[in-house]
This record gives sequence, structure tokens and C-alpha cells, in this order.
Amino acid sequence: MKKSIAIIGAGAAGLASAVRLLKDGYNVDIYEKEKTVGGKMNRIEEKGFKFDVGPTIVMMPEVYREVFEYAGKNPDDYISMERLDPIYSLQYGINERYTVSSDLTKLTPFLESLSEKDAEGYFKYIYSTYKRYLIAKNYFIEKSFRSAKDFYNPEMLVKALQLKTFNNAYNEISKYVKDEKLRKMLSFQTLYIGISPHNGPSIYTIIPMIETIYGVWYIKGGMYSMAQGMAKLIKELGGNIYTDSPVEEIIINSGKATGIKTNGINKNYDYIIANSDFPYTMKNLIKDIKNKRKYTDKKIDSMDYSCSVFLMYLGINKKVHSAEVHNISFADDFEKNISDIFEGIDPKDPSVYVHVPSKIDPGMAPEGKESLYVLVPVPELKTRGKKWTQEDIKNYKKIVYNKMKSMKGFENTENFVEVEKIYTPNDFEEKFNAYNGATFGLAPTLMQSNYFRPHNKSSYTDNLYFCGSSVHPGAGVPIVLTSAKLAVSELEKDDRDSL
Ligand SMILES: Cc1cc2nc3c(=O)[nH]c(=O)nc-3n(C[C@H](O)[C@H](O)[C@H](O)COP(=O)(O)OP(=O)(O)OC[C@H]3O[C@@H](n4cnc5c(N)ncnc54)[C@H](O)[C@@H]3O)c2cc1C
Repeated sequence: MKKSIAIIGAGAAGLASAVRLLKDGYNVDIYEKEKTVGGKMNRIEEKGFKFDVGPTIVMMPEVYREVFEYAGKNPDDYISMERLDPIYSLQYGINERYTVSSDLTKLTPFLESLSEKDAEGYFKYIYSTYKRYLIAKNYFIEKSFRSAKDFYNPEMLVKALQLKTFNNAYNEISKYVKDEKLRKMLSFQTLYIGISPHNGPSIYTIIPMIETIYGVWYIKGGMYSMAQGMAKLIKELGGNIYTDSPVEEIIINSGKATGIKTNGINKNYDYIIANSDFPYTMKNLIKDIKNKRKYTDKKIDSMDYSCSVFLMYLGINKKVHSAEVHNISFADDFEKNISDIFEGIDPKDPSVYVHVPSKIDPGMAPEGKESLYVLVPVPELKTRGKKWTQEDIKNYKKIVYNKMKSMKGFENTENFVEVEKIYTPNDFEEKFNAYNGATFGLAPTLMQSNYFRPHNKSSYTDNLYFCGSSVHPGAGVPIVLTSAKLAVSELEKDDRDSL
């Protein structure tokens, strides 16, 4: 008889886990607390405008495609991807703006315009970071850590040293290039995973390298199309997705997960995969303190969390001409901006990212109009020390509109707004149970990475597995899709061993 699996949460990782398990012959039921699938990879629709809620930047497209290929399907039948060139525009101050290409014949003249020495430094950076990336991918990212000996063995310790990750990202980049703009251009990406370029481990300098060598892509219909594509495939493979179905408890008997409780009813399963945020899951879904073991409520509260975001989804009734699909404007004082975010202060002079999908995807906004996604990194709720009030939102909105006045193409945005929706860290906490509203989960500090990050297989409870941002290997869509692959392979290994 087919074994049964309950997945808690229909985020990117939960959906990808379901596809793999169904293909491998298991019965799968997904329970999602919200009305729609996708988790942070969700969509807001109003008056013909469509906005991705969370992720917008598609990197490592082959990882997205692999989910469908694993099930023997052609990914093109589920998601339509195109490569972006330029990958983004970067604005420094009021007048300095650069469009950055991942096409070497376009990128090189830009680098040389800064200096030939910096162009040379850039190529050295790509070479040495690619070497580190291969080690990270083959020995850490795509490997699950079940027990201490998976990490504490001579080969892994050598590889960990070869990762050379003790420096911070900004200092690491500074070894290769001198130009301050270029240093920012190659280090701000640690914010994609919610950590500071001045503190985050230098291994995350692989992100701009990945953008360059594999490109930045766009999925037609926005990222939400990926969630829809996976949900469609799950149904075709015979899986069930129950939305509006919050799980209240993971039932554990004698150290073994045997089911879940949803809407007051206990349901038995052979295995459980929790895609719900790990800290939330340990605190709220595992009730008995003896099953929490190391992850007591106190431990969960003392862990480090990634930053969060203040997001404005704006439908505007005009076209934006001088902008790209992804646009970033740095704060005048970037260092202060970063230290504010990680010291719990809402930045008064923020860095702002504006995504305009309707520039290349007409279906994202009504004709002649544009849908804007305006993101500002802000502190997560633990560091901020309090939730956002309506007054905070009103005041911060002004700061963001004001900053946009200095952004090329977005100067008068406020005068053309037809739809305005705002998400604060409160929303990410309330809607998706993101602990502390930390949009990228547990911070990937050295002591919360690889073996030290919560594992994909529970260390304390049999038949319980974890996927998603706060567990190994970390946050970002391709990375949580990898966490799904690892959680499923751990589960299937145990299932084979139990026969
Ligand atoms: C604003 C923002 C911008 C981002 N930008 C990018 C980007 O450009 N590129 C990129 O690659 N990544 C980006 N990311 C990161 C990426 O979106 C996430 O890492 C990824 O989507 C997380 O997926 P997940 O499956 O781990 O978690 P989630 O999406 O959080 O899914 C967890 C699911 O569990 C559900 N759940 C929680 N508790 C329960 C319960 N008790 N019962 C039932 N269901 C429950 C939640 O509702 C949710 O649907 C961004 C994230 C955010 C928030």
C-alpha cells in the first residue's frame, strides 16, 4: 500500500516536496492555512493589476525547471521563462545610474569605464568565486546534514576551509575592486537573503556571480506562475491541496510523528514534512516540551533572524519609460542604512528596490498602466522591538514616496496611484507565520548555516522532516526548492531503511 504523507504549508518548498513524493509513488496531502498556494510566492490582484507578493528575481532557472523535469514533464508547459538584459539598473545619488548587463560584451565596457584595474579585479572575483561556488554547491548546499559525522569529518572540514567564508561580503569584494560603486554593486545582494553585506559571511558574494554567469530571468505572469505551475502538476499527479486548513499540531507518539491536527481533527500519516517556518513550527506545532529538545521556546527566541521588508504594491495609471524591470536606488549613506536595518531602526534614508513586471509582461497591468512593487529592507520585529502601527505605516509611506522622487522614472509616482497595498513585517508574520516577520527566515550566519542550521530531517522525532527558508540550505526560491529535494531524499532513505 502507498505510504501517506502530510505536508504543512503550500509554500514553494512544500509544493516542490509534494511533486517529488507523488512522482515517487507516495500519497500526498498538503495543508495550507491561507486561501491560496505559494506562501510568500503569492499574488495580489486588484483592478486588473497583478503583483507578486514576495520573490521577483529569478536566478538559477535550471533549479525551477528541475521540479517539473523530475516528474517527467516539460517545464515549458508549466512556466514560461525569459532572460533579462539588462539585469537591473542601479542608481547612486540623484544623477548617477547604471544599467547592469550579464552579457560580457556589454558589461566589460562598463567595468573599463570605472578603471581597467577594476575590470581585471572583477574577472578575478568571478574566477575565484566560481571555484568557491562549486565547493558550496557540491559539498554544502546539495548535501543534507543528518548527524555530526556528516560535517565533522576530514574531507568536509577541508572543504569548509576552502570556502573561505570568515570574511564579510563587503570586505571580500573590496579585495578585488576599488571603485565604491562596484563594491556596492557586488555586495548589496546579501540583502536578498536578509543579512548585512558588512556582517554576512563572504560566501554570499556568490550571488552576484550567479546573476552574471547564469543570468537573471523572468517568469511570465510573475513568480506566482511557478506556484500555480507546481499546484497544477500536483493535482495531475493525484495529490491533494487543502487550502484554508491551518495545522494546529504535529502529533508525536513515543518520539515518532504519526499525524497532524487540523480544524480540531486528528489525521494519521506515515510521514510529515513541515514547510511552515521552522521556528514557528517548533514553538507552536510541537506541543510537548520533551519533543522540542534543543529548540525550546527560549532557544528559538535567542536565534538570529534575517531582516524584513516594507512593501508597497502600486498600480499606477501611466507608463514608466526610463526604468528597467528591476531598479535599485542606494541610500545616500548606504553604511548607515544597513546598520539601521540590523540595529532595529526604520531607515530614514532607505535603499529602495522597484520591480516593474508590466514593462515586459503586459498581463501584469491594464493597458497604458504599470504595476510597481516597491521594496524597502527594514528590521525584523524582534530587533525592531514592536509591531508596525497604522501611524508607522502612514509615516513610512511618506519616506518611501519621497525617496522615489529622486529615482529616475519614478519621480511623480505618488500622483498617479490607482491601487496602493502595503505589507509590513506584521503581514508576513500574520499571513505566513514567518517568525518575527523575518521574510528570509533564520539569518544565515556562520553559526546558523550548513550543519548548524536546523536539519532537513528532525534530529529528535522520527518520521518528521523540514523544508523551507529557515532550514538547510537557506532562503531564496532556488535554495528552498533544494531544501525540498533534501527533505524528500531524507524521508525516502528512511522509508527504504524501514522495509
Ligand atoms: C518580499 C520578499 C522578496 C523576496 N525576493 C526573492 C527573490 O527575488 N528571489 C528569490 O529567489 N527569493 C526571494 N525571496 C525569498 C523567497 O520568497 C522565499 O525564500 C521562499 O518563497 C520561501 O518559501 P518557503 O516554502 O520556505 O516558505 P513560505 O513561502 O513561507 O511557505 C510556508 C507556507 O506554510 C504556510 N503555513 C504556515 N503555518 C501553517 C500552518 N500552521 N498550517 C498550514 N500552513 C501553514 C504558510 O501560509 C505558507 O504558505 C523573497 C521573499 C520575500 C518575502
